[in-house]
Amino acid sequence: MIPFEVTILGNSSAIPTSDRHPTSQVLNHRNSYFLIDCGECAQQQIRKSHLKFSRIKWVLISHLHGDHFFGLFGLISTFQLLGRKESLIIYAPPALEHILKTVFSAGGGNIDFEIDFRSIPEEGGEIFDSDFIKIKAMPLNHSTPCYGFHFQEKNLPRKIDKSKIEMEEVPIHALHKLKDGEDVQLEDGRFLKNSEWTLDPPKPRSYTFITDTRCISDLADEIKGTDMLYHEATFLHEDKKRAIATLHTTAKEAGAFAKKAEAKMLLIGHFSARYDDLKPLKKEAQTEFEESFIAKEGKCYKIKH
Ligand SMILES: [Zn+2]
Ligand SMILES: [Zn+2]
Repeated sequence: MIPFEVTILGNSSAIPTSDRHPTSQVLNHRNSYFLIDCGECAQQQIRKSHLKFSRIKWVLISHLHGDHFFGLFGLISTFQLLGRKESLIIYAPPALEHILKTVFSAGGGNIDFEIDFRSIPEEGGEIFDSDFIKIKAMPLNHSTPCYGFHFQEKNLPRKIDKSKIEMEEVPIHALHKLKDGEDVQLEDGRFLKNSEWTLDPPKPRSYTFITDTRCISDLADEIKGTDMLYHEATFLHEDKKRAIATLHTTAKEAGAFAKKAEAKMLLIGHFSARYDDLKPLKKEAQTEFEESFIAKEGKCYKIKH
């Protein structure tokens, strides 16, 4: 199975508690990491989770409230101390570029690797496109520009049935055509029927990250059928007034959103420090959507189709 999994580093909202940290998570796709948000203590949490710093290639920052990016300064300093050479690509609202330059020039500007800063366009849209995965940024409804991220794996070529090539030799160019889904007529007269020579590739999977926002029900169509949805659930529904005032979502609303989006699984997070016990938040989300779970810090969740 091609690795596609998310490790939760922090599930707390703005004020951390003694055992919960601000938002951050590592999405592993094919053993390259996307760091999604980077609250305080993210680097210690990465260490505790035994994730390799060197595999972090991309950072995505949802918005510029401190609980989502204050950990970035420490992490970049650590990369420098560890002798990082590879550039670090950061996707974030534009103002972060200036903040980073200011912070690191204050100490003499001693970052030796490239920080490749890419502003998320105000209207969102596709921000990343590789051979294997693409990422869409989705504007949310918060008190400062804020974006959710939808990661969609691409279709892979068809797989050659190994038992067939063990029995018959076939030229490389024919294998490429078979992988592309074509039937192949060989010069020696053999006809290779695609359905007999290839197997279905794994189905593409998707992951959606949505925090901090009032719940936007229209977004459900954009991420329809997502295999795993992380959605903030800062408050219980009895505190809905507070959720409206601070532009956050309740657990009940997060569950209803997951149901509308036909997600396969919902992880809730970004919990207010007012709740010691998180079980009521999970229960409340489950009243709307049964496959709802607390995004537990330190836990790695495999994204399955
Ligand atoms: Zn927050
Ligand atoms: Zn916020």
